[in-house]
Amino acid sequence: MYDIAIIGAGVIGSAVARELSRYALKIVILERGNDVAVGTTKANSAIVHAGYDAPATSLKGKMNVKGNAMYDEVCQALDVPFKRVGSLVVAQHDEELETLESLLENGKLLGVPGLEILSGDAVAAREPNLNQSIKAALYAPTAGIVEPWELAIAYCENAMDNGVSLKLNFEVKGIDRKAGCFEIHSKDETVTASTVINAAGVYADAVYNMVADSHFTIKPRRGQYYLLDKEANGLVNHVIFPCPSKLGKGILVAPTIDGNVLIGPDSQDLTPFDKEATNTTGDRLQYIRETAAAICEVVPYKLNITTFAGLRAEPSTGDFIIEESMEVKNFINVAGIKSPGLSSAPAIAERVASIYLDINPNTAENPAFNPIRRPRVKFADMTIEAKQEMIEKDPRYGRIICRCEMISEGEIIDAIHRNAGGRTLNGIKRRVRPGAGRCQGGFCGPRVMEILTRELSLKMTDIKQEGLDSYILTGKTKRGDEDDAI
Ligand SMILES: Cc1cc2nc3c(=O)[nH]c(=O)nc-3n(C[C@H](O)[C@H](O)[C@H](O)COP(=O)(O)OP(=O)(O)OC[C@H]3O[C@@H](n4cnc5c(N)ncnc54)[C@H](O)[C@@H]3O)c2cc1C
Repeated sequence: MYDIAIIGAGVIGSAVARELSRYALKIVILERGNDVAVGTTKANSAIVHAGYDAPATSLKGKMNVKGNAMYDEVCQALDVPFKRVGSLVVAQHDEELETLESLLENGKLLGVPGLEILSGDAVAAREPNLNQSIKAALYAPTAGIVEPWELAIAYCENAMDNGVSLKLNFEVKGIDRKAGCFEIHSKDETVTASTVINAAGVYADAVYNMVADSHFTIKPRRGQYYLLDKEANGLVNHVIFPCPSKLGKGILVAPTIDGNVLIGPDSQDLTPFDKEATNTTGDRLQYIRETAAAICEVVPYKLNITTFAGLRAEPSTGDFIIEESMEVKNFINVAGIKSPGLSSAPAIAERVASIYLDINPNTAENPAFNPIRRPRVKFADMTIEAKQEMIEKDPRYGRIICRCEMISEGEIIDAIHRNAGGRTLNGIKRRVRPGAGRCQGGFCGPRVMEILTRELSLKMTDIKQEGLDSYILTGKTKRGDEDDAI
């Protein structure tokens, strides 16, 4: 029996697992997908928000500011790139100047450091590609950018390095309450645990309904994006927001940690049952272009390399729900974690651990806990001398598989064999970026498939793009001598 079963391996479930791995506990993460970070965590704005906009009394406001301050240490320990590029909320009309003032006041109440209002000229000096009509901006130096899925994968890997188990393809279908424990069922397996932590993203209400009548519901709210090629790098230097509205933070233009440019998201409420609708649509993408033009008219959309969408977990309560259930003892909900959930993840993990420790005060520490994740080799960033040395040690680092991103075979093999390693084309792309460049995997995809089959003793027809049914090859079109190889 496990002490704790965490449902969901997004950034929240993974961060919670790593935090609880500091203690001598038997923990399992149950994830319905075939990889870590396949829910909302893989499709969002990737901003570590400074935290000036949520109501000062809200849990999300407090978690955001605390989580933001923890990012340097967490990302250093987990070897995840993170940059504090700062953000600007721009006022385009005189009436919006008041909004900047109220965001500034709210930010001060929450303790956000370094906020200041810049004049239109100061904004133009920092951001020459923004429209010159901008009147002023709220500058937040602590805002940052990160790769959200990389953070989740790193959290999960480090949790596993510290003894946590991960069960992929385990969709929780039912939970039975027994004396002193929960029986958690997938379609073909049952896991028993003393405590359940529900971090199931947009499905957190459905998971809670398995043990109680939910006092909250989660509505999916979709946001769509354009992602521009690295050739657009430098279009903006900060994360640029318009003034916020009832629908949220608005359509931003932002650099990504890998040097691309992101434009979006819109905000579209879907029906409560549309929790898989991560498709993009022509009308909403057109709306994003038109709306972003109010901030930046010179966005080079011809450099667009992909579009994508993510689903916000919009809770009926309006705020993060992070608490032991009132109805069901030892069942902890971590639900409604919409934006700024990524920014808040380190603080949410600490809060969940402290709820667990309040319920179980005699929990011992894990004496072997190691917070440091083994660093990844980033071949493209190495000096010529370091590259030569690396190739001499392991020639697989000398074989470049992805020419857009300059990713070597050695890096891909390492990404497969680490804890929480990649098993699909997109899983490898999220870990080491083959396929994330301009050709979007057109050249390197088949090579990555070959490496996956070799390293995992699979057939080519077993390899999937992403989810369970996303087969790439179905068989040979022409029969030949090497038929058995597929
Ligand atoms: C458009 C958009 C923009 C955003 N921008 C930002 C931003 O810039 N900054 C920021 O701080 N936040 C942002 N967010 C919010 C942030 O992305 C989320 O708060 C965060 O990713 C939530 O992580 P999670 O682990 O709770 O959810 P998820 O990543 O969705 O993880 C939940 C996991 O649970 C699994 N699961 C569900 N049901 C079951 C089941 N029955 N059994 C087993 N597993 C199950 C899912 O497969 C999934 O992997 C944005 C969100 C969106 C949609």
